[in-house]
Amino acid sequence: MTPWRDLFPGVSEADWRDWRWQHRNALRSADQIGRIVDLTASERHGLAGTAGRFRFAVTPYYASLVDPGHPFCPVRMQAIPVAEEARSAPGDLRDPLGEDAHRPARAVVHRYPDRVLFLAADHCSVYCRHCTRRRITSGEEGGFDHGAWEEGLAYVRAHPEIRDVIVSGGDPLALADARLALVLEGLRAIPHVQILRVATRAPVTCPMRVTEALARLLRRFAPLFVVTHFNHPKECTADAREACERLVDHGVPVENQTVLLRRVNSSARVLTDLNQRLLTWRVRPYYLHQGDLAEGTAHLRTPLEAGIAILEEMRGHTSGLAVPHLAVDLPGGGGKVTVQPAYHQGREGGAHVFRSFRGERILYPDPPEADVSCPYERVFYGG
Ligand code: SF4
Repeated sequence: MTPWRDLFPGVSEADWRDWRWQHRNALRSADQIGRIVDLTASERHGLAGTAGRFRFAVTPYYASLVDPGHPFCPVRMQAIPVAEEARSAPGDLRDPLGEDAHRPARAVVHRYPDRVLFLAADHCSVYCRHCTRRRITSGEEGGFDHGAWEEGLAYVRAHPEIRDVIVSGGDPLALADARLALVLEGLRAIPHVQILRVATRAPVTCPMRVTEALARLLRRFAPLFVVTHFNHPKECTADAREACERLVDHGVPVENQTVLLRRVNSSARVLTDLNQRLLTWRVRPYYLHQGDLAEGTAHLRTPLEAGIAILEEMRGHTSGLAVPHLAVDLPGGGGKVTVQPAYHQGREGGAHVFRSFRGERILYPDPPEADVSCPYERVFYGG
């Protein structure tokens, strides 16, 4: 890896460590990224073919992780479009999760009974080539201003069943602290909102965004979880570690969602390494997402069997804390379902037949009593 000082000569340490400098100086064109990466013909085609359709930006920090000589560098494949991205594949959907049918306010997606997505921003420090919400991050809807936030807050306020709000976008940490605080204060002031989650890729793509001030700000709104999005061990730098540990040290729990990406991280070795590293930072692996059917991402999706086979190689072979749930977010608003290898193989007499992670056939007998009602439940909850 080329040191950043060689890639960006003349840039001071103070500027490099300033997230605003990183955002201001993001590489936004083929010419700019081409100065530090030897672009392939496919990448040139992808950059030209997606221009004006999907946004392109890479922070200097994330660009410094790119292997300039290898087209299959996992950071590069997430940051630079290739020719396939400019083509639509059969089954591609503009709104793969059917969210727009469940948007009672422009900033709110309400698909599940007790939780909503709150769209705080339409921009990001790096535009991931596999983004599910690229219809929003493309900028075609326009951004989310105070008016959109207020309308969204009014909806949440009027719906007492909402107890969990995931602040997302775009990347909410692309907002300055004061603007982010406005959204979080508005949500925290709603008595029935118990849990806040902030979904962000900043620890991965611009870890300098996670300042002491930001960590203190997020802590004010506890219980608040940061849900981040590391996809490959190459992203696990000292800066990224510092960002995650700063959050955890301030009492902000951090969870990670990985997207399973073909030829980027579609390997048990890569994902075991990634999740073991994250766990040592006290970042808890949460979901491994099967790719959504977002436009221009078919070349990055894996067959479902690949994810199941990877889980099979992880489950039992490493700490359960390091094994995420493999989730498929069903197209058209079906919601998330989890998938796992078939360990339960049927019944034999009064026993269940299991296949262990080592492949042994093992029987688990049911207990003699089948009554599973909890007599104290009524006492505890009343009624
Ligand atoms: S940071 Fe999140 S919202 Fe932004 S481009 Fe990446 S996946 Fe999409």
